[in-house]
Amino acid sequence: MKIKDLLEAPIASFQTIGDFEKPGSMPAADRKLLSSPKAVKKIHDIFSKTPYDFNLFFINYPGEKGNLKTTQSKLGIKYGEVNLSKLQQINPELYHEIAKVKGNSISLIYIWNFDQKDLKNQHPLTAWIIAHRFAHALQFDKEQDTETRKIQDEVSNKFNEILKKAYNKTATFGWSDSFDNRNIDLLMSVLTMKSARDKRLNSTFEFFPETFAQYLLTGRVKFNPLPQEGFIGGEQQYQVLNSEIQKLSVEINQAYESMLKKCVGKVYTF
Ligand SMILES: [Zn+2]
Repeated sequence: MKIKDLLEAPIASFQTIGDFEKPGSMPAADRKLLSSPKAVKKIHDIFSKTPYDFNLFFINYPGEKGNLKTTQSKLGIKYGEVNLSKLQQINPELYHEIAKVKGNSISLIYIWNFDQKDLKNQHPLTAWIIAHRFAHALQFDKEQDTETRKIQDEVSNKFNEILKKAYNKTATFGWSDSFDNRNIDLLMSVLTMKSARDKRLNSTFEFFPETFAQYLLTGRVKFNPLPQEGFIGGEQQYQVLNSEIQKLSVEINQAYESMLKKCVGKVYTF
């Protein structure tokens, strides 16, 4: 057996629940995608490269279109970590399905995939979006969010210290209301995932889910060298700040690893 095989963990369980032919809580594009063997294989292949076991559940709840709150309460789940004893009371069938496979895996439930601000703006549930929404689940977990917030705020502060010294600018991407979209271009020029390369990151709030998805699916968060344009210091200062931003990416990787370890054996939804 090769070392690579030891590190790879296939998706332990991949289930669609509900009729994916009929309209429901899942958008049509996602119902189609999750019914396509080719697309499903791609999700399996990408998640198999992570060292964690995942159980993925996709539920198309009938009769609910875009109304997340109602769907969640009918299914007995809400954002963040799923309270299994509550779920057992409200929705014993779903509880049973999850309890069967939970084990030492990370279980994720998806029932909905609309942009909350813009119902027409959808990102199909590809492996990347599955990972991205997992990060949102951690972000919106009301009981266990302290550490996520702490990590996010620390990263945001350090990132901004560097941007301040380098460009006399900041790009706030802290918690909920504390982010703004000023200097999002600067942020996108440092980040290396597709959304940043294509200049399609629509909010600095997405820094956390996008870097988390990058860490989970590619093994590390990677930053570009600081852009030369607009840099306010000399060459030496550039070298110093550049190594600081690279060091920050290493710290982010470590923080995400410790977050992921704590997710093992738990169930999340977003
Ligand atoms: Zn997002």
